Amino acid sequence: MTATTLSGNRLAAEIKAEVLAAAETLARRGVEATLAVVVATDDESTHWYVRSIATAANKTGITCRLVDLGAGATEGQIADQLAELSRDPAVHGIILQTPLPAGVRTAGLVGQIDPRKDVDGANPISLGRLAVGQPAFAPATARSVIDLLAHHEIPVAGRHVAVVGRSNVVGKPLLHLLLQRDATVTICHSRSSPLCEFTRPADIVAVAIGRAGMVTAQHVGAGAVVIDVGTNVLADGSLVGDVNAASVATVASALSPVPGGVGSVTTALLLLHTVEAAALAEALTPA
Ligand code: NDP
Repeated sequence: MTATTLSGNRLAAEIKAEVLAAAETLARRGVEATLAVVVATDDESTHWYVRSIATAANKTGITCRLVDLGAGATEGQIADQLAELSRDPAVHGIILQTPLPAGVRTAGLVGQIDPRKDVDGANPISLGRLAVGQPAFAPATARSVIDLLAHHEIPVAGRHVAVVGRSNVVGKPLLHLLLQRDATVTICHSRSSPLCEFTRPADIVAVAIGRAGMVTAQHVGAGAVVIDVGTNVLADGSLVGDVNAASVATVASALSPVPGGVGSVTTALLLLHTVEAAALAEALTPA
């Protein structure tokens, strides 16, 4: 069997077109949709990623405000900045980009982001709302797995999905999004051993581990759909997923590529959430 490729490029382009139309509508009403990205690192790949968000934002009619606090920023400085952006009516979406300086605790900081501006679903309030089915922005990466499957007309209702990884950014929100859509979900992590016993019976395997090429054909049942969330930069600068694509493609029916799969949709969804947040803020502003 040779797996078909579940590209995210066309979906990302469709979402960006939707974002541009929404941003233009907002602009005609005097609202400049604005996304603030807070960075506190000198990690070059992070700055590259943030610049790519800014470029995509500008192309879709969104103003991107990069707030670089530097690698020496303290937890207090970052918290103050997030609180200030949360109060600023000109800012509609806020992202706190990781990694943060050593010793800075992300968990407490993301609670400073106003949930109405939490376009990457980082505040525990957003995750809690997602868990109980209340309106909230889902983390863009988790949502992009769902949207990529829907785009390729792969149903999840009644199907068994194994999610490998239980982070607050990917695994846990993905669990809730899948349950809302009537999937049966198995969550796996570093103590799920042997991993293949949990993943092989699944119809769909979504992998978010952070280890290049860890998932191979032995982890995947014949004909399963595999979604690779992983992004790992190798020594030669190339980007690879958590799935060994050459191996898995021999047993899976479909596989999302890295790059060009989940990652391309994620940025588009951050922008979509930003125009949604701007529209919501406008609706809630007294005339
Ligand atoms: P984390 O490091 O926060 O979580 C990794 C998860 O993988 C943990 O739950 C961990 O288990 C589990 N894990 C580690 N080793 C194994 C193993 N041997 N077997 C099974 N499970 C294991 O990572 P993230 O969730 O933040 O990211 C995961 C991947 O997704 C990374 O490659 C990251 O770069 C990528 N990513 C991609 C995005 C995109 O837009 N494309 C955005 C965000 C992330 P335990 O909890 O027990 O430690």
